[in-house]
Amino acid sequence: LGKQRRTSRAVRYDASLETVAERDATLAAQIRHGLRAGEFRVLYQPIVTLPAGRLVAVEALVRWQRADGATVSPAQFIPIAERTGQIIDLGAWIFETACAQAAVWRRRHGAAAPLVSVNVSARQLLDPTLPAQVAEVLHRHELPADAITVEITETAVFGGGAALDTLHALREIGVVLALDDFGTGHSSLSLLRTCPVDVLKVDKSFVDGVAGSAQQEAVAAALISIADTLGLRTVAEGVETARQAERLHELGYRYAQGFHFARPQPATDIDALLQQRAGAIAS
Ligand code: C2E
Ligand code: MG
Ligand code: MG
Ligand code: MG
Repeated sequence: LGKQRRTSRAVRYDASLETVAERDATLAAQIRHGLRAGEFRVLYQPIVTLPAGRLVAVEALVRWQRADGATVSPAQFIPIAERTGQIIDLGAWIFETACAQAAVWRRRHGAAAPLVSVNVSARQLLDPTLPAQVAEVLHRHELPADAITVEITETAVFGGGAALDTLHALREIGVVLALDDFGTGHSSLSLLRTCPVDVLKVDKSFVDGVAGSAQQEAVAAALISIADTLGLRTVAEGVETARQAERLHELGYRYAQGFHFARPQPATDIDALLQQRAGAIAS
């Protein structure tokens, strides 16, 4: 009986492994096809000042609308694109698209044009040709490097090594570097000593507690105190209520991003925001 159990367990284990690998392979093929077929697009979510709600930057967020009508969340396909290496081509397309859009906004809105923030995954940071690619795209679109922010996560640079080398090379080019989802990784504080970043994006999980318990607010307050001490700018992520925005401002936060202000939206809607409301959203 014991032997039978072991056997059946082993079979089930193999089957599930095969399924994951198969699903990855299928999705990788679909991503490759989707890139050629124009199924991806980039939305832009405003990053605003506190308390005025003036639009100063946008974060580029990729969306995948498949031909069969299904929309797939980046939280779902980015990890698979990372595992399968597809993120290299997809990431290059996203960066190109976001920079082309940034250049359009600069021509159209001059000094009022939003800075553009682009997420770069761990796998992309391990590509030693990334800095040269970034420099080429900026040059081709005649963009000053500091018009673009590269968002990386703590886990991507946790190991140091090649990813950290890439980060230093990006900094040399002059792009702004932001640590995304700050506080959720394993090495947040020690990383600040070795990692050349300019901006901390304080994760939504800390923002959620603001205007809630005093204890939770204390963490958000401590994070901004550390950032100030180190001369880093901070962006509060995932701000969903006016109360949170108000408290964050009182705690010393100067920039915020979240559904309370605006959702990720097509570039043309950002143009409309810039024109109609002179950049001021809600506060
Ligand atoms: P992220 O970089 O931390 O992006 C912020 C995410 O939070 C976005 O989800 C955004 O829509 C969402 N968000 C913003 N404000 C609020 C809010 O007030 N409430 C809530 N509940 N959510 C809010 P999204 O677009 O689904 O992206 C999820 C994650 O997928 C991103 O997290 C990022 O890690 C990854 N991702 C998205 N686009 C790209 C991309 O172009 N390249 C790479 N490498 N990763 C991307
Ligand atoms: Mg991000
Ligand atoms: Mg984030
Ligand atoms: Mg986040």
